[in-house]
Amino acid sequence: KRNVLIIGAGGVAQVVAHKAAQNNDVLGDIHIASRTAAKCEQIIASVREKGSLKVDGVLKAHALDARDSANVVALIRETGAEIVINVAQAFVNMPILDACIEAGVAYMDTAIHEDPAKICEIPPWYGNYEWKRREAAAKAGVTAILGVGFDPGVVNAYAKLAIDDYVAEPESIDIIDINAGSHGRWFSTNFDPEINFREFTGTVYSWQNQQWQENKMFEVGQTWDMPVVGDQKAYLTGHDEVHSLSANYPKADVRFWMGFGDHYINVFTVLKNLGLLSEKPVKTAEGLEVIPLKVVKAVLPDPASLAPDYTGKTCIATLVKGKDKDGNPAEVMIYNVADHKEAYLEVGSQGISYTAGVPPVAAAMLVADGTWDVGAMKNVEELDPKPFLNLLNKIGLPTSIRDAGGERLLTF
Ligand code: NDP
Repeated sequence: KRNVLIIGAGGVAQVVAHKAAQNNDVLGDIHIASRTAAKCEQIIASVREKGSLKVDGVLKAHALDARDSANVVALIRETGAEIVINVAQAFVNMPILDACIEAGVAYMDTAIHEDPAKICEIPPWYGNYEWKRREAAAKAGVTAILGVGFDPGVVNAYAKLAIDDYVAEPESIDIIDINAGSHGRWFSTNFDPEINFREFTGTVYSWQNQQWQENKMFEVGQTWDMPVVGDQKAYLTGHDEVHSLSANYPKADVRFWMGFGDHYINVFTVLKNLGLLSEKPVKTAEGLEVIPLKVVKAVLPDPASLAPDYTGKTCIATLVKGKDKDGNPAEVMIYNVADHKEAYLEVGSQGISYTAGVPPVAAAMLVADGTWDVGAMKNVEELDPKPFLNLLNKIGLPTSIRDAGGERLLTF
């Protein structure tokens, strides 16, 4: 058993807490810490209400400002946590990683570190913060698993599996993220609007012809024939996993595509062109100083409030094309389909939080039983994907494959 400290108490943390509780026979004590302790208490109440704890055990809330690494070290020591699952805002990833290295405990997150002052980092993104700490992690023997949500995360494991077993010489790796669900509101982001919009205001980097290509958001779109959810338009988008997969498979093109409806694009474009997505303060005629993006966030629905009404499915896939080990053309799509309503009924969250929150718990369980406790910093495609995907099959995110033989569930 390894005790767990979950940092963050948002939509993803809600899922992490439920899943950790459902598996507390492997994980031990569960602590949840966030800036606002009341949010952790709410999550704990929901875990208790749904009876998620598998065996009797500790489930405790803590207030924590993770901007200061020393606070995180102190809480790790106080709780006796051996695994930290960081699902706080990505602005605090590095102080949390530093604390884990100092305290000698395992670390995992689901997004790259972001500097709030920068609109977009230069590639490779992991090189700016995370990989600079690779030596320190190895020296301390600390297992640090970067980006182990769904995308980045499971899609990286899909890429590794596709290359190990089906497409020995990959020529392209396309990750396609489709939310075919509906929240029933006129307009809403699925996550914190500040983070969500940031993803789409910076340069879109993709790795093509062994170099970085730069595009603008919504500049390059393509309709994809997806399992279960059918034809879906998706746009080339900047995303974390492009930056590690391109380092690990430099000969392949690596692209990330995210599905958007025309309505979302229209609203986003109006907000952006009016300057309402800006993080720079403006002064009103009355002398009031406001940050436009904060105002937009304040008037949009709280993403957490979408869960009860969310219906439909998500389909997130990795499509790898190239040659098999005999040099013949080969192509596989490995994917998961999740259902918003089922996620809500199980853990009280919408499907996107569900797909992001289950994988870090699977990773924590693999660290706890030693399978992934490698004592070094790794991106997900650098670890054995099979135990991870097998465990995900069992705890709520089954993997399917589409190849020349049709579509079917994958087990190992
Ligand atoms: P939320 O915005 O809902 O929650 C973020 C949490 O972080 C809040 O509880 C917030 O606390 C806490 N937090 C912020 N600053 C601090 C701080 N200084 N100290 C302690 N806690 C802090 O985020 P989500 O749950 O939607 O997402 C969590 C993470 O998961 C993000 O990094 C996101 O990018 C990532 N993600 C990854 C996905 C994947 O598939 N890989 C998909 C979706 C999300 P408070 O409100 O009290 O300030």
